[in-house]
Amino acid sequence: MDKQQEFALRTVEERDVRFIRLWFTDVLGTLKSVAIAPAELEAAFEEGLGFDGSAIEGMTRVSEDDMIVKPDPSTFQILPWRGGPQGTARMFCDILTPDGEPSLGDPRHVLKRALSKAKDKGFTFYVHPEIEFYLFEHQDDWSKAPTPIDHGGYFDHVPRSPGMDFRRATVNMLEQMGISVEYSHHEAGPGQNEIDLRYADALTTADNIMTFRTVVKEVSLERGIHASFMPKPLSDQPGSGMHTHLSLFEGDANAFYEAGQEFNMSLTARQFAAGILYHAAEITAVTDQYVNSYKRLWGGNEAPSYVCWGHNNRSALLRIPQYKPGKGNSARMEFRALDPVTNPYLAYSVLLAAGLDGVEQQMTLCEPTSDDVWELTDAERQSMGIQPLPDSLDAALKIMEKSEFVANVLGEHAFEYFLRNKRKEWDEYRLQVTPYELQKYLPTL
Ligand code: GLU
Ligand code: MG
Ligand code: MG
Repeated sequence: MDKQQEFALRTVEERDVRFIRLWFTDVLGTLKSVAIAPAELEAAFEEGLGFDGSAIEGMTRVSEDDMIVKPDPSTFQILPWRGGPQGTARMFCDILTPDGEPSLGDPRHVLKRALSKAKDKGFTFYVHPEIEFYLFEHQDDWSKAPTPIDHGGYFDHVPRSPGMDFRRATVNMLEQMGISVEYSHHEAGPGQNEIDLRYADALTTADNIMTFRTVVKEVSLERGIHASFMPKPLSDQPGSGMHTHLSLFEGDANAFYEAGQEFNMSLTARQFAAGILYHAAEITAVTDQYVNSYKRLWGGNEAPSYVCWGHNNRSALLRIPQYKPGKGNSARMEFRALDPVTNPYLAYSVLLAAGLDGVEQQMTLCEPTSDDVWELTDAERQSMGIQPLPDSLDAALKIMEKSEFVANVLGEHAFEYFLRNKRKEWDEYRLQVTPYELQKYLPTL
């Protein structure tokens, strides 16, 4: 029994916790949960808890269905919305096979593997997400366009909007669970909000994002409103992204910073950025995994559509602010394609691996773009070597299917499962006759 396990057991007893939820995610990043009684906790730490993996998306094949969840005691937290005596706690878990090996379908394991490769090279990977989402009025009929809870815009202070209280309640709850928040504000769309988590290592942040989504849903349920992370819920308003700031540390030093170099950017930073741009198209199905994700990417409103980088260019996929002397430790790059419904474990795995591949292959970073790339003509973009991101889930899958790089990072099992599941989603979608077609064609054709 290690110290963290002892701490969890002691807290359960002292705080009179009634249930301990064991959390993990499937390949798509859906949160899964099984509750155990306090009396089972010690055995769960030692042996784990068996479950039928074949019922979880992407976990196992039916022939090898027994799997084990093993709680990670460092993630023990009481759930604030189930606090008090007889409350509930949670821990994130690793998934093991009956032989005690990590499950190849466990996204947390995919990320741990990518992080350990980085560690072998002396690097720690930190991330800081800016999570956008909409608040809508509750509705029963999901085929109707939703109604935002206010008409505010970017940074608006909207008196009497339930949005401000909503952000306050969410931030408080996150902080009670040990998740630090840097900023929160109204975003550009009506009813749209953003909450930015403080940077942390990628595994902690991926866990935090899963908790964040749950907290936001809990707070909205409590208030009778509907919070949605859907990437593009309203066709004429901005979508919701999850811009993520990436940085690489070697010990205590930020590996992206080197005083005296152009923009104070180290060679590692240039190569890392080059790797991300090089692999951008083949990782897009992972960073933007739903049919709807592409309506955001290609719907304007500051979502990136082209593979390029710039210093202060919000139309670029990768924004790298000029690093200020003396502020080396805050050197980072902002990847803007991610949306808030990605599987954060898999997304961070492919981003880290793409960057490190750039470092390993010593890739050369192209020139920054200062133009608004949406305003350029196709010919201008072509002459500048600027490629588009895939413009649909179908296009993204076609590129990913051929990608040895993504297959290696995810591992054959998660790779094949992911593609099969997403191909099915696309096929379902393309067979739909949409309201748009009915309204456009039925009157005249
Ligand atoms: N909502 C925009 C997006 O879809 C981003 C706006 C911003 O710059 O924060 O990515
Ligand atoms: Mg934003
Ligand atoms: Mg941003």
